[in-house]
Order: sequence, then structure tokens, then C-alpha cells
Amino acid sequence: YAKKKKGTAIQVFNSTLLSAFKEDAQIERDLHSAIRGRQFELYYQPLRDLEQQTYIGAEALIRWHHPKKGVLYPGAFIDIAEQSGMINAIGSWVLEAACRQLNIWQHHNADLSMHVNVSARQFFSGNLYEQVWQLLTRYRLKPKTLILEITETELMGDIRHATLLCQELAELGVGLAIDDFGTGYSSMRYLKQFPISKLKIDRSFISDLTISRESQEIVSAIIAMANALNISLTAEGVETAEQEAFLAKSLCHQAQGFLYSPALREPEFAQFLLTAKQPNLIAH
Ligand code: C2E
Ligand code: MG
Ligand code: MG
Ligand code: MG
Repeated sequence: YAKKKKGTAIQVFNSTLLSAFKEDAQIERDLHSAIRGRQFELYYQPLRDLEQQTYIGAEALIRWHHPKKGVLYPGAFIDIAEQSGMINAIGSWVLEAACRQLNIWQHHNADLSMHVNVSARQFFSGNLYEQVWQLLTRYRLKPKTLILEITETELMGDIRHATLLCQELAELGVGLAIDDFGTGYSSMRYLKQFPISKLKIDRSFISDLTISRESQEIVSAIIAMANALNISLTAEGVETAEQEAFLAKSLCHQAQGFLYSPALREPEFAQFLLTAKQPNLIAH
């Protein structure tokens, strides 16, 4: 009986695993035609400066209009793209689309900045520097208005190589942000080693900020450290006015989250800035 039961369990496991594999393989096949088919779109989530009380830019977040499955979020395909190597083509498309958009925005407000997520494979690919340099030139962007977001775990994969790449990018003048800060290795040493200009506090610390003493202490410590090291700071996943109040009081100057807006398609993003009564409005 035990043997039979075990066998059944393995079968169930296998068939679940098999269908997951099939699903992934399908996504991977579909990814190949997604760029050519113009199925990707960047959405933009506003970044709020709590001190100036203005929106200072956006984070570009990719969405996939899948011909059969509808809108897919990055969680459904970025890992597959990373494993299959497709991420390089997708990442190049993202960077180009984000820079092209930033150029258009900056006709109206030269200070707006764009945050772009960069995956590990894309970061270590060897042509990110060249690509960023070309885009800055082509779209006449002030380098510091482009901020590349990388996670700690990605950087720690190959510290020596990462240090070199970060230094090169920093020399170009673009910003480097550690995304999801606090969830990876969180080795404090790399803050000295890498020319990091910004930390983005992971939303897991923000979600229970007003009820968890531990999260409050951790966030306060991160803020104190960033301010002391002159590294700018954004809190991710701010959803309530109470969370915002805690952050503002603790001198965390930037926030991003559903309290302000989810990621929006471009026309809605421009409209959002308009109705937010920004100085230097974006007009279309
Ligand atoms: P991320 O870089 O940490 O981006 C923030 C994620 O949190 C986004 O999810 C955003 O929609 C979500 N978010 C923002 N505010 C809130 C909030 O108040 N509450 C909650 N619950 N969530 C909030 P999204 O768009 O699904 O992206 C997930 C991840 O996929 C991103 O995490 C990023 O690491 C990755 N990603 C997105 N776009 C790209 C891309 O173009 N290239 C690469 N390589 N990765 C990307
Ligand atoms: Mg990010
Ligand atoms: Mg990210
Ligand atoms: Mg994040």
C-alpha cells in the first residue's frame, strides 16, 4: 500500500511538473515572436518626492500583451526570458523604449527621471555600457536622469566583475539603484565598493511598517545609513497615508506605490502628472 501511495504521489508530482514545464516551454516559444510582434509595452509608475511634494519621474515596468493569454505581468515571463537568454533582446528593447519616452517627457520637464530594471544576465552581458552610451547620445539625455535598477543578489553573483561594470556605468553618469533592498545578501560592504546612488527599500518592510516594530527599526536604520552615506532612497510599495507619514517623518524622501498610482500606460501617466498639478506640466 505504502509503495502504491508513494508511486501515486510521484505521478501527481510528475504531471504537475510536466505541465509547468510545458507551460514554460510555450511561454519561451511565444517570447520569440513577442518583440517582432510589438507585444511588449512599458507602463510607468510615478515616483513621489515627499519633501518637494512633486512627482520626479517613473519606473518603467514591462507588460506583455500575449495574443492568447491577455496581459502578462513580468512575474510570468521574466525568469523564463532570463534562463533562455531572451532577456538580452527584451532588455535592449526596454532600455530603448524607456529612453525614447524619457526624451519626449523631457521636452516638457527636463528634470523628470526614468528608472529601468536591469536583469543579471543583461547586466553582465558586456554591452550594457555601449548601449546606454548610445541611448544617452541619441536621445540627448542628461545621464543622471536615467537610473538603472539592479538587485543585490544579481550584483553579488560576481562581485569583481560587477564592481567594474558599476564603475563604468557610474563614469557615464547614470544612476545605479539597488532594487528590493534588504531582501538579498544585504552586505553593507558593497555600499562602499559599488558606486551606488540609490537604494529602494523592498516593499516587504513597508507593508507592515505601521504595525511592526521590527520593520520600523529596520527602515529607520536603512534611512539613517543612506542619509549618512549620501545615497538617495525610495520606499517601494507605499499603500497608505500612515506609511507615508512614517517615512516622511523619518526623512525618507522618495516613495512609490499604490497610494499614488499603479503603473500606467503612457497617455494615462502624462495625464496623471497633469492632474497632479505638477510644476512644468506635461502637455500633449
Ligand atoms: P520591482 O522592480 O521591484 O518593481 C516594483 C513592483 O511592485 C511592480 O510589479 C509594481 O507594479 C509593484 N508595486 C508597485 N507599487 C506597489 C504597491 O503599492 N503594492 C504592491 N503590492 N505592489 C506594488 P511588476 O510590474 O509586476 O514587476 C515585478 C518585477 O518584475 C519588478 O519588480 C522587476 O524586478 C521585474 N520587471 C519589471 N519590468 C521589468 C523589465 O523591464 N526588465 C526586467 N529585467 N525586469 C522587470
Ligand atoms: Mg524596480
Ligand atoms: Mg526590479
Ligand atoms: Mg523592487
